[in-house]
Amino acid sequence: MRIFNTLTRRVEPLEPIEPGHVRLYTCGPTVYDFAHIGNFRTYVWEDLLRRTLRFLGFRVTQVMNITDIEDKIIAKAMATGASIGEVTEPFIRAFFEDLDTLGIERAERYPRATEHIPEMLAIAEGLQAKGLTYESQGSLYFRIDAFPSYGRLSNLERREIKVGARVDNDEYDKDDARDFVLWKGHREGEPSWDGPFGPGRPGWHLECSAMSMKYLGESFDLHTGGVDNIFPHHENEIAQSEGATGHPFVRYWMHAAHLMVDGEKMSKSKGNFYTLRDLVARGHDPRALRYLLLSTHYRTPLNFTFEALARAAGELQRFDALYVRLGEGARPAGRNDEFDAKAAAIETEIRDALADDLNVSGATGALFRLVREANAALDRGALPAGSVEELKSLLGRVDAVFGVLTPPEATLLDPEIEELVTQRTAARKAKKFAESDRIRDVLASRGIVLEDTPQGVRWRRAVAGAPPD
Ligand SMILES: [Zn+2]
Repeated sequence: MRIFNTLTRRVEPLEPIEPGHVRLYTCGPTVYDFAHIGNFRTYVWEDLLRRTLRFLGFRVTQVMNITDIEDKIIAKAMATGASIGEVTEPFIRAFFEDLDTLGIERAERYPRATEHIPEMLAIAEGLQAKGLTYESQGSLYFRIDAFPSYGRLSNLERREIKVGARVDNDEYDKDDARDFVLWKGHREGEPSWDGPFGPGRPGWHLECSAMSMKYLGESFDLHTGGVDNIFPHHENEIAQSEGATGHPFVRYWMHAAHLMVDGEKMSKSKGNFYTLRDLVARGHDPRALRYLLLSTHYRTPLNFTFEALARAAGELQRFDALYVRLGEGARPAGRNDEFDAKAAAIETEIRDALADDLNVSGATGALFRLVREANAALDRGALPAGSVEELKSLLGRVDAVFGVLTPPEATLLDPEIEELVTQRTAARKAKKFAESDRIRDVLASRGIVLEDTPQGVRWRRAVAGAPPD
């Protein structure tokens, strides 16, 4: 596996500390609202990364934090009079539902910030003991001028660092490097924990250092997030972690580029802001969204449009149609050696493309060639049972990575639809064409695509949002 490492700005072989076992930390959601499709671009890509590593034979231990204490959460709680838990619990539940909707595999752990306050305080105390902090008005700050390699990840020039200036916010602007807060002194109306620096609460950056090192070790392999996390969040994580332990924190950093909508930055005020739930409510198939989100290379900005979403749904229909064809009818035993060899070569091509810094368009290009080859062989009646079985298991292996190629079971087995299809066939046989057209319309209104073939009628459920065949 070769990946682009943000730290070195090079594509490098991924060599985990423990051979064959990748320890991966992925920054998780701040649970004050539903996650939007820009967030899911990153989470779907991280799922593709995790699945690819496993496809290539690595064991993966992934930790994703749940940030359940942070500026925006507190602001929402104070504005609505709710407790922190009342704000976060429904969105934590929604987050996991959304992961399932998008077919995102579960990480090994989802630690919550509020359950790791002692670990955060231990890091802050370690930093204090090494002289990397100072206290001011009840808060504890990281002194970035005392950490010479600050700025290495984001390529920040030392001269851009405002010596002695400090920032209390969890998020702040690019190129505005200032001493950042580790522990925020208690403010009226805010939740607080007791600590050696007085009552207060942790800064956001400290949360990720504490939870990643607790579950993955002081040095681990791979840390990912969106490009907007590079500075200040990941820069600050490195400073805190390496400052406290004296060891290298993370060897490889990977970052996904932005998602835009219709060529613009997504924002609520522009009316181009979408959560996963918004798209599902508009009748779009989450499978198509997953496919769209993962089919642009992660280091390229992704421009979300409804046309692109429809195109993604249309491409999935080509897989579904092949899937239905492979499932039908009796076939002669035996194999087509030439086809099998071609399919095996394509699988190798897919594997090599993914191993090359997740070259997903290379992989999907090869996959579509396989679909065309398979359809052509089926048209010629040249795909015997042995080759069909091998092709199905090949597609299953590849779909362990993509997670979109296999239509959901319910779209293929539906006794009610079967019955309607049988009635329509009978009507046609009896030359009752008005009746057969009526049934066809009923089926069409339910999103069923019919295809008349010499072997009989073939049906499948259209992918929601796809253009008509
Ligand atoms: Zn983080």
